[in-house]
Amino acid sequence: MVHNIIPKNGIYLTRQDFQQWNDYFSNLLPIIQCDNTKIDPSDLRVKNITFVVTERCNLACTYCYETHKSNKRMTFDVGRDAIDFIMDEERVNGYYNIDTSQAVILEFIGGEPLLEIDLIDQIIEYFKFKSFELNHPWSTNYMISLTTNGILYSTDKVQNFLKRNSGKVSVGLTMMLVVYSIMVMAVMIL
Ligand code: SF4
Repeated sequence: MVHNIIPKNGIYLTRQDFQQWNDYFSNLLPIIQCDNTKIDPSDLRVKNITFVVTERCNLACTYCYETHKSNKRMTFDVGRDAIDFIMDEERVNGYYNIDTSQAVILEFIGGEPLLEIDLIDQIIEYFKFKSFELNHPWSTNYMISLTTNGILYSTDKVQNFLKRNSGKVSVGLTMMLVVYSIMVMAVMIL
């Protein structure tokens, strides 16, 4: 029901709205266990943490939402602290509760996040190490989400990262890639 995801303030989505949104979609899942008993959907809420790893981009789309592009980038220390934070139930005050949040999506955006593939790699490796060390359910139940313009997609670094994290990465291409590809094809044809 659409009214469930309308911003509470009627203008823009807030953190509270996103939590509601996650819960809304998780409740849509008709989940049956192997023994045919139903799982309570509230036990399967997927939490999301978004890392804005850079404000830099290798394109300059006219419609860009990122109006304050700069060379600023996230440091590994910030990424590591964020991972520590989401795995500390007391500090996050129950929002990321492992009993009710059985899985997590680690999302990387920018600017263009693939400009910081080394940093993303470091953060993911730290996440794996930390979740394994804590015997946390997220050590196996996690996905990595990359929202990219795709320009650096075929570079060795990115391809190596995707191979090492095979089956765990979802890549979202921005519309710009489609436009860019069409332009490249047009240039090649002409
Ligand atoms: S690729 Fe994305 S971040 Fe980069 S200029 Fe285009 S819209 Fe902005």
